[in-house]
Amino acid sequence: MKVIKIDKNDWTRGIDKSRETYQLFGPVTDKNQSVFKQLGKDAYPEMGRTDTIMSPKSVLFPQTEKILTASLDESVENHHIMQMPETDTTPRAVIGIRPYDAKAVQLVKLNFDTPEYRDTYWCDAYEATTFVGLAVNQPSASDFSTSMGSGPFAEEGLDLLLVDLDDHYLAKVLTPKGETFLDGAGFNGTADTDASLKTIQGMKEAAEAAITSLVPTDKLKEKSLLDLHGAPFWEDTAFSCINCGTCTFVCPTCWCFDIQDETKGKSTSRFRNWDSCMSPLFTMHGSGHNPRGEKTQRVRQRFMHKLKYFLDKYDQGSMCVGCGRCVEKCPVNIDIRSICNTMNSYEPQK
Ligand code: SF4
Ligand code: SF4
Repeated sequence: MKVIKIDKNDWTRGIDKSRETYQLFGPVTDKNQSVFKQLGKDAYPEMGRTDTIMSPKSVLFPQTEKILTASLDESVENHHIMQMPETDTTPRAVIGIRPYDAKAVQLVKLNFDTPEYRDTYWCDAYEATTFVGLAVNQPSASDFSTSMGSGPFAEEGLDLLLVDLDDHYLAKVLTPKGETFLDGAGFNGTADTDASLKTIQGMKEAAEAAITSLVPTDKLKEKSLLDLHGAPFWEDTAFSCINCGTCTFVCPTCWCFDIQDETKGKSTSRFRNWDSCMSPLFTMHGSGHNPRGEKTQRVRQRFMHKLKYFLDKYDQGSMCVGCGRCVEKCPVNIDIRSICNTMNSYEPQK
């Protein structure tokens, strides 16, 4: 295990040097909110922000993405034949991604990169990306990541883990991609590895202990899917939901999309756009039938997918990393932590 010391006085120089190789993404303030965005040539990641309203999932899965194009001009060879547009697979680095968001990428990968099917758009972007994480020294009140198999210093899915020690970072090198990023940025400050790892371990334990939101998940696996599906609490759970979809858009593990074609003049393009299982139109069939036409069915779908279907299908934990964004942003205070608790303890009436 290699640890590098990065003096904060050297930070902007290294970031500027890394721009020669990478497209950089990081947390920035936009309309008074902290979001992950591509950094312009004079912009630097705002590493102090712990409250990014959106995760960096759009780096791999843009909110709107052109996936196919075709010419409708019959004088052109191959007209009316859909083709993939040029895709950008130049190296990119996400600076300051939170450990739970990096784990979320690994959960999403289970859906986009399977033995049967490889989503080339997502996978190519994933392979081009280096994830430079920033440990969370002071978790927010809504952070329950330790209950969901992640944590403020978790390393899964990261290439580098930066730990903020006021005037410098300790950078834990986790993969060859992480090492390449440090080389490209010219970060090579030496650190006493054993002492650094001990410091990081102490900070990790303190940060984990600061998370007071603990959510039981131990019985979800053994619960009957049909019992949970038919449980009476979904009506109450869904009552106040206004189907705004906020919880799905801010969620780093939500991946639903819709496909739309747009034609302009003699060219046509096919796009995929983020969509939401909370929207009634999401499951509307061409026939007019809607298998999830009722609000309760949609709310149940979201939580059953996160906490039961995904767990049963992959046996790799829940499809939630405990980032707390949906808890903070739901306008009617629907809280996945209490729903998880209810599901985990549910016993059907005999
Ligand atoms: S954010 Fe809240 S109100 Fe909006 S769809 Fe999600 S659960 Fe419903
Ligand atoms: S379900 Fe909520 S808490 Fe869980 S990962 Fe998604 S936004 Fe975060």
